[in-house]
Amino acid sequence: MPYKKAFNAQIKLCTYVKGGIGMTVDKERLIEEFIKLVSIDSPSLLEREMGDYLKDKLKGLGFVVTEDGAGSKLGGNCGNIYGFLEGKKELEPLLFCVHMDTVEPSRGKQAVVGDDGVIRSKADTVLGADDLAGVAAILEALSVIKEKELEHRPIEVLFTVAEEIYCKGAKVFDYSNIKSTEAYVLDLTGAVGAAAYQAPSILSLVIEVNGKASHAGFAPHKGIHAIQAAADAITKLKLGQIDENTTLNIGVIQGGLATNIIPELCAVGGEIRSYSHKTAMELSEEVKKQFERSAEAIGATVKFEVITNCQAYETPKDHPVVLRFKEVCDLLNLPFSLQQTFGGSDNNAMFEHGITGIVLACAMNQCHSCEEYTTVDELVRIAEVTKALMVSEVNAG
Ligand SMILES: [Zn+2]
Repeated sequence: MPYKKAFNAQIKLCTYVKGGIGMTVDKERLIEEFIKLVSIDSPSLLEREMGDYLKDKLKGLGFVVTEDGAGSKLGGNCGNIYGFLEGKKELEPLLFCVHMDTVEPSRGKQAVVGDDGVIRSKADTVLGADDLAGVAAILEALSVIKEKELEHRPIEVLFTVAEEIYCKGAKVFDYSNIKSTEAYVLDLTGAVGAAAYQAPSILSLVIEVNGKASHAGFAPHKGIHAIQAAADAITKLKLGQIDENTTLNIGVIQGGLATNIIPELCAVGGEIRSYSHKTAMELSEEVKKQFERSAEAIGATVKFEVITNCQAYETPKDHPVVLRFKEVCDLLNLPFSLQQTFGGSDNNAMFEHGITGIVLACAMNQCHSCEEYTTVDELVRIAEVTKALMVSEVNAG
């Protein structure tokens, strides 16, 4: 439904949503599924086993499933997994997206459920709740729908590869066959009920300063000091928080071969984040100019490359994709909140392809560390939310 038309739409949820938390989800099945998912190794670009497992699962739930060629394009062993399930014809389809890969250390993960309902990893690995909690929630929601034969929307799911390396899988996915205009990406920390409606552009700066090598003792005057030029540029840049929406960091500097050689090459790596893509691009141009000035002053040259990892988006807070989620949270008595995030997700990539989405908190905590954990209660909550979204209705008012 076009955003303008949907603006005044009255959102109605099917009556069976009103069972409340824990009324429809099979807790044992959900936790068992989560533990199974955690036990499958799926580091970025090595998602094959996970992909095969999820394809079978989706087929068993009645989906038409395809895998794209992202694996070979990215040098991995598995593509993005896409599934479609027919639903009530008069309702618009919704897309649910999660990523299959987990950050390292991730080999041999094992989930342990504590008496307190907290689920942690057994050994020195991440748990992988980022993003397997989201995967488990989607599978459980679909299982409930199938088991109870609930009426539901047409449902699309996208299980992506290589999200943890700047959303590479989602970036190469072919969106031309996607039917939905709205998406829920389950991939955010925080209490279930929270959602991100805005995320930044993330640019990588790949800089190379080229000087001239010379003996540091016998002929220093014949050399051009690449490190000195780079250092001059870096000290003249404002780093850190540039304005309330923008940050700049220089995080890598490499150069020089020996202490008795004037260094010929200095490689510098940086990053810009901004809620405004325009601001991010303008700032990258400023950084480039500063490096060029500093290099030119001593006769060095600069190669400067900007890589756009993610492009900024902002979903209007009164968009139906937000209102529907709020309605679900209200019905399930969950604390709804909207927030900005300063990290990228698959939602950035989808936004570039005309799909309007928000990123839902989905029972993951202290991600990207071995202290990562989830809880039984939060997993149940996000599974209920997911199911409620899948069976929700929007009637033009
Ligand atoms: Zn994630």
